[in-house]
Amino acid sequence: MNTSQIQELQNIFGKEEVLTAPEDLLVYGYDASPVEVAPEVVVFAKTTEQVSELLKFAYREEVPVTPRGQGSGLSGGSIPHKAGIVLSMDKMNKILHIDPENRLITVEAGLTTSEIDPAIAKFNLFYPPDPGSVSFSSIGGNVAENAGGLRGLKYGVTKNYVKEMKVVLPQGDIVTIGSKCVKHVAGFNMESVFVGAEGLLGVVTEITLALMPIPAHRESALAIFTTLRDAAQCVSDIIAAGVTPSTLEFIDNKAINAIQDFKDCGLPRDAEAVLIIECDGEEHSAKAEMAKVEKMTEKNNVQKFKIAQSAGERDNLFEGRRVCLNALASVRPNLILEDATVLRSQLPEIVEGVSKLAEKYKLDIGLFGHAGDGNMHPTFLYDAKDKDETARVHEAVKELFQLAIDLGGTISGEHGIGLEKKPFLADQIGNEGIALLQAVKKTLDPKNLLNPGKMFDMPQDTVQAA
Ligand SMILES: Cc1cc2nc3c(=O)[nH]c(=O)nc-3n(C[C@H](O)[C@H](O)[C@H](O)COP(=O)(O)OP(=O)(O)OC[C@H]3O[C@@H](n4cnc5c(N)ncnc54)[C@H](O)[C@@H]3O)c2cc1C
Repeated sequence: MNTSQIQELQNIFGKEEVLTAPEDLLVYGYDASPVEVAPEVVVFAKTTEQVSELLKFAYREEVPVTPRGQGSGLSGGSIPHKAGIVLSMDKMNKILHIDPENRLITVEAGLTTSEIDPAIAKFNLFYPPDPGSVSFSSIGGNVAENAGGLRGLKYGVTKNYVKEMKVVLPQGDIVTIGSKCVKHVAGFNMESVFVGAEGLLGVVTEITLALMPIPAHRESALAIFTTLRDAAQCVSDIIAAGVTPSTLEFIDNKAINAIQDFKDCGLPRDAEAVLIIECDGEEHSAKAEMAKVEKMTEKNNVQKFKIAQSAGERDNLFEGRRVCLNALASVRPNLILEDATVLRSQLPEIVEGVSKLAEKYKLDIGLFGHAGDGNMHPTFLYDAKDKDETARVHEAVKELFQLAIDLGGTISGEHGIGLEKKPFLADQIGNEGIALLQAVKKTLDPKNLLNPGKMFDMPQDTVQAA
């Protein structure tokens, strides 16, 4: 970008909110995926109007803009792979309004998700979607990826809580999408288009979220299994029995040992797999649900079933699950974490499929995930310097996606497509599906400047794709 363009950005944001020094830019060139490309400029927005000014400028000057929350994405969505400007939402991080009467909160998009709960606890309310990254990802990033979390089975994912959004469209227009009302059918259901759009259709600057009353009681347990299949079948059986735990997480032996090496969370190193289960609600109903869960674990040859006896014990279990990815990341120099998702009844098949891939390609694969949602995270551990191993990882990933599709599942349950899964999207939704996405993108962003080249290529830029 030239000096007068930089000057114009400084006029919009203020000099100190525009970074151009190469050493400052590096930090904004990666996320939690293996891709890395530094931007030319980083700007920090503090208002919706600044975002609008920026997008008008970028449109006129034909410069790509990549919105960025906290860069914790696992699919490369916030990587500025066509260079240009990174728009950091980091400084739009205020809670704007709490409305306990209507169980709503309005926040700026850069707010860290875990900052919501402490602000509303005094009203006995909580915000259910809790991705493993809750303490460092932004709510805007959660909206853009339609993030799920550990409570998704009972409480759903981000899209179930987004009521209203302020969005700046690619050419700078500011629109309000959705409504704070419980019911709203005035116009298309545009919330569904913008939630999960991965920053391709607009920049979300403010969001009104629905809240839930804090459940009176939480009953948490650890179920220990000697085979992967028993643990996976148990998940299917719990769902089939009509029980809906708030949490039903799966961790395999490799991941258990990585966690224990990383931080002692009391997980049994010799278990082939464990399930972390939580039922919540009124005390009697949470306990009754957990009793049904225990029966299902017995049916599936559980080795040990332990109910947490204190909040400390429960927190330890959940901490184990939350540090799982970081723990696996310390096992080998590189990792690729996938989030193939299947129907819950197909869980044993995908778990077995991952074991077969590890054997066939001689790979280290840790397996954990939101099993109750059918959303598993096979985590491929490797050394990128080893070309042969890297090639085997990529082959195995390709086969994993095909397996998920063949089982009637999806290549991504919550991490989005971004750059990482772009080559596989057509296998999932077909060329007609891609054409529909391209048509929506073209209508809102005819010059393809907002987060270009993510999720799918536009017909004119196929040759330049990363
Ligand atoms: C340890 C770990 C655990 C994780 N656990 C989970 C999990 O349990 N569930 C889950 O779903 N994900 C999980 N993730 C993935 C990641 O945290 C989520 O995708 C999260 O929603 C990304 O938020 P972010 O603020 O970091 O966004 P970024 O990574 O900065 O951006 C993600 C995408 O959103 C776009 N974007 C960001 N902000 C905006 C905005 N305001 N307007 C428009 N577009 C925007 C970006 O352009 C990009 O395409 C995990 C990641 C890590 C590292």
